[in-house]
Amino acid sequence: MANDTILVIGASGQIGTELVMELRNKFGHNNVVASDVKEPQAEVKESGPFEPLNILDKEQLFTVIKKHQVQQVYLLAALLSATAEQKPMLGWELNMDGLFNVLELAREGHIAKVFWPSSIAIFGPTTPRVNTPQYTIAEPTTVYGISKLAGERWCEYYYNKYGVDVRGVRYPGLISYKSPPGGGTTDYAIDIFYGALENNRYTCFLSEEATLPMMYMPDALDATINIMEAPASHIEIRSSYNISGVSFSPREIAAEIAKHQPGFSVNYAPDYRNEIAQTWPQSIDDTYARKHWGWAPQFDLEAMTHEMLKNLAEKTQAI
Ligand code: NAD
Repeated sequence: MANDTILVIGASGQIGTELVMELRNKFGHNNVVASDVKEPQAEVKESGPFEPLNILDKEQLFTVIKKHQVQQVYLLAALLSATAEQKPMLGWELNMDGLFNVLELAREGHIAKVFWPSSIAIFGPTTPRVNTPQYTIAEPTTVYGISKLAGERWCEYYYNKYGVDVRGVRYPGLISYKSPPGGGTTDYAIDIFYGALENNRYTCFLSEEATLPMMYMPDALDATINIMEAPASHIEIRSSYNISGVSFSPREIAAEIAKHQPGFSVNYAPDYRNEIAQTWPQSIDDTYARKHWGWAPQFDLEAMTHEMLKNLAEKTQAI
């Protein structure tokens, strides 16, 4: 049977850049259409189709879907936590209307399957912070968290009411070296590697003990593709699944980096992002994802740090 045609919206971002390449390698380069308002990285542009697309323009979205006979959509376009706090109305508009445009086309029968990522930001200061369960108090205090929680409810609604096959995970902070992060509270955990390699020091915008759930990008790509490839009957949760990778504080990752970079030092200058971090979980219970569709992460802090330093060193030498 021929592979479905896949559309990735937000393909020029931190996750999109890598997800497009992973999907193309798995399902064929011409079967994966990349799209974004922004120019993609060269490897995305040169390895398969790219469509300039503003997700807020439903007509344009429909045209792209018809042109390429798209069956599956991965919707990654969003305004992230730190940026959305600076531009709350834009954050709400992009994160909600973008989702509605995709869900509506799915409801009308133009898209067969949708991936939409939620976030650990749906939780808030009243949520139990250690081993945060799938089902618990969720009272987010950021625009981003509010939009993601509302998005989860709408995804479940479209599944229950209209049978839309929508699937999602609550990503923790994602760590990668191929493309820069897009304005999240967890971006420090990427910047710290650049600081280590460039100056052997780093000034951190979170406090030393701000433990947060994180994940190395290859694990996040596995989670994303595995949940989409699982039989529909296995996806018992249609809002979004908790998934866990590795939890650490700035102090802990700094100590791990120092094992490779002797003398590495970190200053702490917490800003508004530290306040956001204080409202999020420290670790996540992902029992349901493991049980329902076989989720299992591969990378711990040690393995991730080793890979990040190795790959970033090679990348910076190549420039
Ligand atoms: P990013 O900011 O790096 O990328 C988002 C992309 O969307 C950008 O390339 C941007 O140009 C594009 N975009 C913005 N407005 C658009 C529009 N109107 N139409 C089309 N494209 C538009 O974000 P990311 O880190 O790749 O995140 C992708 C998804 O994963 C988002 O939904 C985000 O909320 C979620 N997420 C990410 C993380 C993380 O740590 N990166 C954590 C939790 C959840």
